[in-house]
Amino acid sequence: MPTQLAATAALDPDRPIRRTARLANALLGDDSLQRRTLALLGLAALVTVTVVLLLVYAVSIGVADARQVGGLTGLFFTFIAGFYGLIRSGLNRHFSDPTLSMPQTILGQTLIAAAYALTGPVHGATVIMLALVMVFGMFRLRPTAVRHACMYTVTLMGVVMYACAAKDPLHYPARQEIFNFALTAIVMLAISSLSSRLSTMRTRLKTQKIALEQALAHIKEMAARDELTGLPNRRRMMTLLQEHATRHARGGPRFYVCIIDLDHFKNINDTYGHAAGDAVLRAFAAQAQVVLRTTDMIGRWGGEEFLLLLPESTPGDPTLAVARLRDSLAGMPASQSLPEVRVRFSAGFARHEEGEPIDQAIERADRALYAAKSAGRNRSVVL
Ligand code: GH3
Ligand code: MG
Ligand code: MG
Repeated sequence: MPTQLAATAALDPDRPIRRTARLANALLGDDSLQRRTLALLGLAALVTVTVVLLLVYAVSIGVADARQVGGLTGLFFTFIAGFYGLIRSGLNRHFSDPTLSMPQTILGQTLIAAAYALTGPVHGATVIMLALVMVFGMFRLRPTAVRHACMYTVTLMGVVMYACAAKDPLHYPARQEIFNFALTAIVMLAISSLSSRLSTMRTRLKTQKIALEQALAHIKEMAARDELTGLPNRRRMMTLLQEHATRHARGGPRFYVCIIDLDHFKNINDTYGHAAGDAVLRAFAAQAQVVLRTTDMIGRWGGEEFLLLLPESTPGDPTLAVARLRDSLAGMPASQSLPEVRVRFSAGFARHEEGEPIDQAIERADRALYAAKSAGRNRSVVL
C-alpha cells in the first residue's frame, strides 16, 4: 500500500542521515584514504573560491579585466575538477604520492601568482593565500618537498612582481613590490623551517608510539606469565579455559581439565631450602613442556600446583600424556642440583561437560586430585 509506505518513510527519523550518507558516498566514494585525499582537495577548492571572490571584486571595482579574470577562474575550476576526476577514478593511486599534494601546491601557487598580476590595486591580499597554501602543504609534504615548493613560490613571485612593477608601476609601485617580495620570502623561509621541525616531531611521535606498543605487548606478556616457571599463569589459564568452554558449548571439541600437585613438595623445601624448591618447580615445568603434546596447555595454577588443559582430539584415555610425564620424571633428577631426588605428583582429571560452567569442571578436577592424594599419591584419578 503506497500511502502506508509513505507514512512509514516520513516517520523514519534516520532518513535524512541515510540520505546524507548516500550523497557523501556518491561524491566521495567509500574508500577512507581516498575520502581524506578528497577532503584535502576540498580545502584547495576553498582557497580557490576565496581567490575567485577577490578576482570578482577586482572586476567589480573596475581594476581587473573581466575576460582575463574569467579565463583564470575557468582554469582554477578546471584544475580542481581535473584533480577530483583523477582521485575519483582512482588514477591518483598510480602516483608515488596518491594525495597529489605537490602538484596541487605548485598549481595553486602558480594560479595565485596569476591572480596577483591581475588584481591591480588589491593584489596585496593574494600574498596571504600563498602562505595558506604552503601551510596546508606543510602537513602533507616532506620537508624537502616543502623547501622546493617554497623556493618555487619565491622565484615565481620574484618574476611576477618584477614584471608587474615594470609594466604597471601605478598599481605595482617598485618599493611596495620589494616589500611584498621580502614578506613572501620571509614567510616561505619560516614555513620551510617549521616544516622540518614538524617532521622531527612526527618522527619522534612515531618512535614513541612504537616504543609504547612494544612496552604494552611486553606488559601483556608479563601479565599472562608466571615469573618463576615462565608458564602461563592462573589468570591466563582461566581465560583459556573460558574460551575452550565457550567453544565447546558452540559445538567445538571436548576437553579435559587436569590439576597436578607435586607430592610431598614441602619436604624438598624443608630439606634443601626454598631456592632448591624453586629449581625443582622450574625443572618440572620445563619437562612437562617437553613431554606434553603441543595442543595440550599447561600453566602454573599456584604454589606447587599446575593446571593442564587437554583438548580431546580423539576419544581415549586422557591420562596417557600425564603418565608419560610421570614416567619421564621417574628417570631424571628433580633438578640439576638434586641428582638423587625424584619428583612425583598426583593428578585429578575432569571432563568438561557441554554448557557446564568452567568452575564446576575445575572443582571436579580438584576433587579427583584429592582422591588421588587420599589413595596414596603418585597417581591419576578421573572424575
Ligand atoms: P602433598 O603431597 O599433600 O601435596 O604435600 P605437599 O608437601 O606437596 O603439600 P603442602 O600443601 O603441605 O605444601 C606445599 C608447599 O609448597 C608449601 C609451600 O611452601 C611450597 N611452595 C609453594 N609455592 C612455592 C614456591 O614458589 N617455591 C617454593 N620453593 N615452594 C613453594
Ligand atoms: Mg598443594
Ligand atoms: Mg603438594
